[in-house]
Amino acid sequence: VIDSLRLRFLNQFRLSDEEEALIATVRRLVVEEIAPRAEEYDTSGDFPWQNIRALQAIGLNASFIPLAYGGAGLSFRCLLRLAQELSYGCPSTAISWAGTYHAITPIIDFGSEEQKAKYLPVVASGALAALAITEASGGSDVAGIRTQFYPTGGKVAIQGTKSFITNGDVADLFVVFGKWAGASDGRDAMTAVIVEKGTPGIRVVRKEDKMGYRASSTVELAFQDCQVPRANVLGAPGQGFKQLLSAVNKSRPSVSAQALGIARAALDEAVTYINARWQFGQRIVDFQGVQFMLADMVSQLLLAESWLMYVGQLMDSSVADYSVEASILKLAASDAAVHIASTALQLHGAYGYIRGSRIERLFRDAKATQLWEGANELQRHYIGRVFGDQVPEKPRPEVGK
Ligand SMILES: Cc1cc2nc3c(=O)[nH]c(=O)nc-3n(C[C@H](O)[C@H](O)[C@H](O)COP(=O)(O)OP(=O)(O)OC[C@H]3O[C@@H](n4cnc5c(N)ncnc54)[C@H](O)[C@@H]3O)c2cc1C
Repeated sequence: VIDSLRLRFLNQFRLSDEEEALIATVRRLVVEEIAPRAEEYDTSGDFPWQNIRALQAIGLNASFIPLAYGGAGLSFRCLLRLAQELSYGCPSTAISWAGTYHAITPIIDFGSEEQKAKYLPVVASGALAALAITEASGGSDVAGIRTQFYPTGGKVAIQGTKSFITNGDVADLFVVFGKWAGASDGRDAMTAVIVEKGTPGIRVVRKEDKMGYRASSTVELAFQDCQVPRANVLGAPGQGFKQLLSAVNKSRPSVSAQALGIARAALDEAVTYINARWQFGQRIVDFQGVQFMLADMVSQLLLAESWLMYVGQLMDSSVADYSVEASILKLAASDAAVHIASTALQLHGAYGYIRGSRIERLFRDAKATQLWEGANELQRHYIGRVFGDQVPEKPRPEVGK
C-alpha cells in the first residue's frame, strides 16, 4: 500500500528516463549488496569501503559534478532520490558518499576555473572529500571557530583543530573553513581553503566511537603549520561566510533525503513485523490503536517526501534563496525520521531493543539527523525569525486623541 502511494506521488515528480534508470540501478545495488553488509559494518565500525567501491564502480560521484568537469550533470532532485535510496539500505554508506558532495559544493559554486578544472574531475572519478567547519569553540555558532589562515609569501599556513569531520581520515580532499589572520575576528574574516590529502601538517587526532552511523568515519583533525598554495583559497579572503551559507543550503536537503531514507526503512520494517506477529489471537497490525500509529507515520513520511521534491525543484530552477524552505525540510525530515524509527521500534516490542535487529540500528542512526547540518533548534530559529518581519507596525494614536 505504501509503495503504491509513493509510486503515484513519485510519478508526479518523474525525472528523465536516464535519471530514473540510474535510481533503479542504485536501488538494485542497495538491495543486493549494500543493505546486506550494513549490519556487519555497524557492528565493526569499519569504513564501508566495499560499498563505496561499489558506488565508485558505477561512477556515482559523477552524479554531483557538472558535465563540463567530467560529471553527469544530473538534477538535484535526482541526487536527493539517490541519497534516499542509499540511506534506505545503509545510512553510513549514504553519508560517506554524500559527505563528498557536501564538501565540494563550495568548489563548484565559488571555485576559480583552475580549481574546478583541477579538482572536480578527480572527484567525479571517485575521490572522497571532507568538509571541515566545526570546532570545539564553534558548533552551532560557526562564527566562533578559531582556525587561523596565515598568509606567508605564496602560501597560506593553517593552524587549528576541527571536530566531528565526516570522511576526515579517508578523504583525498578537504575544504577547510577558518579565519584570515589579521582580519577582524567575526564573519568578515571567514575564509575557505582547499587542502589535498598528504599535505604535511594534517593529523587525525581521534576517530569517534559513535552511537549511530557507526561505519561512517567521524574524526578530529589537527592542522599544524599545514601549508597550501595561496591559489587554494576559495574566492577571496573574507568570502567564507557567504560560501558556507550557500553550502549548507545544499547539504540540508541532502541530509533530509537521508533522514527520509531511514524513515522509510523503519516504516517498512515495522509493517513487515506487525503483519507477522500475533498477540491476543490476532495480528498486531489489526489493532486499531496500532493502525493509528501507522497512519501518523505514513502521513509524516509522505508529506516530508513531497516537500523534499519541492525543495529539489527550487534548487533545479535556480531560485536564489530557498534557505527557509531548506530549514523547514531539514526540521520536518529529521523529526520524522526520529519519530518513525522510535515508533517502529516500539512496535517490535523487546525484539526491537536487541542488538542486531535492523530497527535498533535505524533508531540509533536517525538521531544524528536532528544534530548535524545545523541542529534542529537552529532550524527552528531560522524559520521562526521570519515572522518578526511580518508583524504590522502598531497603529499610532492620532494626535489629540
Ligand atoms: C555524526 C556527525 C558528523 C558530523 N560531520 C561533520 C562534518 O563533516 N563537518 C563539520 O564541520 N561538522 C560535522 N558535524 C558537526 C555538526 O555539524 C555539529 O555537531 C552541529 O553543528 C552542532 O554543533 P555542536 O555539536 O557543537 O552543538 P552546540 O552548538 O554546542 O549545541 C548544543 C545544543 O544547544 C542547542 N543550541 C545551540 N545554539 C542554540 C540557539 N541559538 N538556540 C537554541 N538552541 C541552541 C543546539 O541545538 C544543541 O541542541 C558532525 C556531527 C555529527 C554528530
